[in-house]
Amino acid sequence: MRIGFIGLGNMGGPMAANLVKAGHEIAAFDMMKPAVDKAVAQGARAAANAVDAARDSEVVITMLPAGAHVRQVYLGDNGLIKAIKPGTLVIDSSTIDVATARDVHAAAKIARLDFLDAPVSGGVGGATAGTLTFMVGGEESAFARAKPVLEKMGKNIFHAGGAGNGQAAKICNNMLLAISMIGTCEAFVLAEKLGLDHQTLFNISSTASGQCWSLTTYCPVPGPVPASPANRNYQAGFTAAMMLKDLKLAQGAAHAVGAATPLGAEAAALYSLYESAGEGGRDFSGIIQMLRGRAQS
Ligand code: NAD
Repeated sequence: MRIGFIGLGNMGGPMAANLVKAGHEIAAFDMMKPAVDKAVAQGARAAANAVDAARDSEVVITMLPAGAHVRQVYLGDNGLIKAIKPGTLVIDSSTIDVATARDVHAAAKIARLDFLDAPVSGGVGGATAGTLTFMVGGEESAFARAKPVLEKMGKNIFHAGGAGNGQAAKICNNMLLAISMIGTCEAFVLAEKLGLDHQTLFNISSTASGQCWSLTTYCPVPGPVPASPANRNYQAGFTAAMMLKDLKLAQGAAHAVGAATPLGAEAAALYSLYESAGEGGRDFSGIIQMLRGRAQS
């Protein structure tokens, strides 16, 4: 298939490379020329701009930093909505606010495009390995068209419902993750003060009611889960800055619909403090260091 891919950064670059490997013809565009050059070296064709990447493509995929970029690329002057042929499948995999996703869906519907919001989890490692999780919002028929393409970049492909529901699933999940991570960190900090060692708490809680992913897969202290970032001085992984971005999106959405999310608000405040301390580039599980009240473990 001819696929236009716009946004070839840390995530988009390897995702586009996996589509080339799967035999698709990729027209690649990014504002940064080195990103395009890299995609060309991996077998893509360089497009002159976003419209050039999208115009003759059967599928268009965008992977951009935030809602403002998505708005500009789709709805701005020379925006993609006006340039793409009716009937084209269009997938935005950026993590953005639900309101922008729904606005682009509405404009795409008028232009008779099959648009999906399809944010991912799994990070750069998942993008490179082709094992991302996609959370997809939009029409069932568009989802059915997209699934074989998404399967070339991901392992778990979920249809989360109508327009914007992919973004909704992503921010609800990540808000839950942040809260569970902070809770797990607090339990270890309290255990340390009480003289209960890490491995013992892990052995008990991982088989008791405190069990959760933040504990059993991504344990924030070194030792119990050898692959977790705690074992490499909290080298990311999933950065605290990325987590803060998603928590702010969750808070924006909660305010917009009047949902009470006091722990989500507290998690956003704590990650904001952690980022202000200069730790935004560290893995999000490193927040345990701040909760201990000292910089190093
Ligand atoms: P990135 O900053 O590395 O890449 C974004 C790319 O978009 C850049 O290369 C930039 O030059 C390009 N770009 C910006 N505006 C553009 C425009 N108008 N036209 C063309 N190109 C443009 O970001 P990333 O890490 O690849 O993340 C992309 C999205 O995926 C974000 O929304 C992020 O929240 C989400 N995400 C990232 C991760 C991760 O671990 N990095 C994990 C899950 C989700």
